[in-house]
Amino acid sequence: YEIQQSLIRRIRESESIDVFEHHFAIEIITQHHLGKIVTRRTPDITCYGAYVLDENTGAVDTFLSRVTLMATGGVGAVYTTTTNPLVATGDGIAMVYRAKGTVRDMEFIQFHPTALFHPGDRPSFLITEAMRGYGAILRNPAGERFMEKYDPRLELAPRDVVARAIDSEMKAGGHDHVYLDVTHKDPGETRHHFPNIYAKCLSLGIDITKDYIPVAPAAHYLCGGIVVDTNAESSISRLYAVGECSCTGLHGGNRLASNSLIEAVVYAEAAARHAIEHAHDYQFRDDVPLWNDEGTSHPEEMVLITQSAREVGQIMSTYVGIVRSDLRLDRAWNRLDILYEETERLFKQSKVSRAICELRNIINVGYLIMRQAKERKESRGLHYTIDYPPQPHNETGD
Ligand SMILES: Cc1cc2nc3c(=O)[nH]c(=O)nc-3n(C[C@H](O)[C@H](O)[C@H](O)COP(=O)(O)OP(=O)(O)OC[C@H]3O[C@@H](n4cnc5c(N)ncnc54)[C@H](O)[C@@H]3O)c2cc1C
Repeated sequence: YEIQQSLIRRIRESESIDVFEHHFAIEIITQHHLGKIVTRRTPDITCYGAYVLDENTGAVDTFLSRVTLMATGGVGAVYTTTTNPLVATGDGIAMVYRAKGTVRDMEFIQFHPTALFHPGDRPSFLITEAMRGYGAILRNPAGERFMEKYDPRLELAPRDVVARAIDSEMKAGGHDHVYLDVTHKDPGETRHHFPNIYAKCLSLGIDITKDYIPVAPAAHYLCGGIVVDTNAESSISRLYAVGECSCTGLHGGNRLASNSLIEAVVYAEAAARHAIEHAHDYQFRDDVPLWNDEGTSHPEEMVLITQSAREVGQIMSTYVGIVRSDLRLDRAWNRLDILYEETERLFKQSKVSRAICELRNIINVGYLIMRQAKERKESRGLHYTIDYPPQPHNETGD
């Protein structure tokens, strides 16, 4: 919060920074838009700016740039249940992938074990890990503590272990949630330590000092994304990526909690330094064509877009969630493919809108998560598949 407030203040104070609110980036501009054929093997793919939708007027503007920086956040909104803001549709990752840039480690999606289960709440309200640190106990709907079946560290096991244990209890019993119990703790202390959780739950009729809290895992963080080097430069020249949309490799396959600032702040500074050093080596292109929307009309029914987005969430949550298998990934692949075909057709016919772009992006991102999950023939970190169960650690410390 403090970082954001300071940044916003300094940006407003600066005369050399223009802020465009309610502007939505659609595509980055590369040689492809100048009529050249660009493939994943093309060397020196270069970013010259972006096509951006002005949401107030519906016009698509061409923003030319010497350097461009992608900071579009995570992909949680690809899943039905997520703690992420609903703008987390992976737009930057999808744009870079479509521009033939390198995207990696998309299979490593961290699920937070304990989001408040309240159907209809999207994003889901997070029940902090601190509550388990405080002594909260996980119970199945029969009221049984279950973590001892899964890990000797019980409720304090790592996120991925706890999320898988909850997933397993839910699947075995056919439940859509389990419970977190702090009723054995001092009520005054609970209210004092967790005032927001207390107030939120009370607003739903749950008094956490007396009642169990219904919880379920929710998509929370993406370790992978747009591959960058230590200057935050992507595989596309003049294009940087920072924050959750980037893949620095620092999170490996299983991020530790509370360290997103590394990719957000540390790499933002690296990108800024590098860009300032090099921006003047580059020229603006003056031969970029305007956005071409000839032959398009407004989509007749918004419901086609919202329903497809809902289906993507269901496919991803059902088949590409915490526990995966080849069979589930194949099913997801076939179902997503139908939505891909339909959406690309609709995109070509429609006047561009934020809704259709976000749908296209979640389909692209869903495809990347699925494909990279299929390619990883092992369980590692946040990617767990029953077809390739984890190997016990060997003496070489693999
Ligand atoms: C509930 C919750 C709790 C968390 N707690 C912690 C914590 O305790 N510690 C920690 O380290 N991390 C935490 N995280 C993770 C951390 O908050 C995120 O990783 C981080 O905020 C991501 O920052 P970002 O700048 O990359 O993206 P964001 O903050 O998501 O910003 C992305 C921005 O890009 C904009 N955008 C997206 N697409 C487009 C487009 N096409 N055109 C124009 N603009 C676009 C969005 O509107 C948004 O403003 C938490 C996350 C959640 C959801």
